[in-house]
Amino acid sequence: MKVNEYYRASSLEDAYRKLQEDPKNQIIAGGLWIKKIGQDCNALVDLSTLGLNKISETKDEVIVGSMVTQRDFENSNVIRSLFNDSLAFSVREIMGVNFRNIATIGGSIIGRYPFSDVITGLLPYDVSLEFYPEQKMSLEDYLSYKGKINAILVAIHIKKGSGKGFYKKVKTTALDFPIINFGIAKVNGEYRIAVGARPLTGALAHKAMDYLNSQSKLDQESYKKAAEIAAEELMLLDNKDASKEYRTDLVKVYVRRGLEEVSK
Ligand SMILES: Cc1cc2nc3c(=O)[nH]c(=O)nc-3n(C[C@H](O)[C@H](O)[C@H](O)COP(=O)(O)OP(=O)(O)OC[C@H]3O[C@@H](n4cnc5c(N)ncnc54)[C@H](O)[C@@H]3O)c2cc1C
Repeated sequence: MKVNEYYRASSLEDAYRKLQEDPKNQIIAGGLWIKKIGQDCNALVDLSTLGLNKISETKDEVIVGSMVTQRDFENSNVIRSLFNDSLAFSVREIMGVNFRNIATIGGSIIGRYPFSDVITGLLPYDVSLEFYPEQKMSLEDYLSYKGKINAILVAIHIKKGSGKGFYKKVKTTALDFPIINFGIAKVNGEYRIAVGARPLTGALAHKAMDYLNSQSKLDQESYKKAAEIAAEELMLLDNKDASKEYRTDLVKVYVRRGLEEVSK
C-alpha cells in the first residue's frame, strides 16, 4: 500500500477541504480496514485531534463521536445504561481487546460492511448519523442510500428509551467474521428485528416487526411465526461461509430466541 501524504486536519472544514482536493484522499480513523484493503491512496486525512472521540448525552439521546473506539464504546457507562446494557454486545465479540482499542465506531458504520456487527447491533434502535457538511439521516436510510455519501461522519445519535436488547453473532471460530448476526430489541414496547451478514448488510425485518407489533397478545407461537416471516422476507444468500438454507434455519432459531429473551 502506498500513501503519499499524511494530513492531520485542524477542523472538520479543513478535513473536508482536503478530501475535496483529490478523489484519492480519504479519512483515516482506526486505519485497520484501510490497512487490510491495502489500496494506494494520495492523502490520509486524520481526524484524531478534532475531539470526535467522546460520548456525551442529553435528556433524549446519547451522542457517540465517530472516532470513539469500539473498546471505549463497550466500556462506557452511558452506553451501558441504555437498554439494559445490550448495545455493547455487538462490539464485544469483534476480534480482541487490542483490536477494539483502535477500531472506531464511525469507521465501522461508514463503510456499510455487510458483515458489520456494529451496524446490526445498532439497527434495532432509533439511531441517526450526523455528517459534515451538515446532514442527518437515520442509520436505516443510510444503509439503503444508493451511492457514496461525500461527507465526513461526525457522530452517531442514539435515542434513549426503555427496553431490552439481544445480540447474537454466529461465527465459526472466536475471532471470525460473522456467518450471520442478529440484533433484536423491545424498545418502548415495540419489537425491532435486525439481521446482518446475510451475507448482505444488516436490514430490519419490517413484516415480522409489523406482525408482532399488531398482536394484542404474544406467546411462544407468535415469536415462532415472526421468525418464519423474517426468514421469508429477508434476502438470505449462499457464500463460502454458509449456505442460504443454513442461514434460513439460523434466522428461524435466533429470531425466536431473541424475541423470547427481550420479552422476559
Ligand atoms: C482483520 C479484521 C477483522 C474484522 N472483524 C470484524 C468482525 O468480526 N465484525 C465486525 O463488525 N467488524 C470487523 N472488522 C471491521 C472493524 O470492526 C472496523 O469496522 C474496521 O476496521 C473499520 O474501522 P476503522 O476505525 O479501522 O476504520 P478505517 O480503516 O480507518 O476506515 C475505514 C473506512 O471508513 C472511512 N472512514 C473512517 N472514518 C470516517 C469518518 N468519520 N467519516 C468518513 N469516512 C470515514 C475511511 O476513509 C475508510 O474508507 C474487522 C476488521 C479487520 C481488519
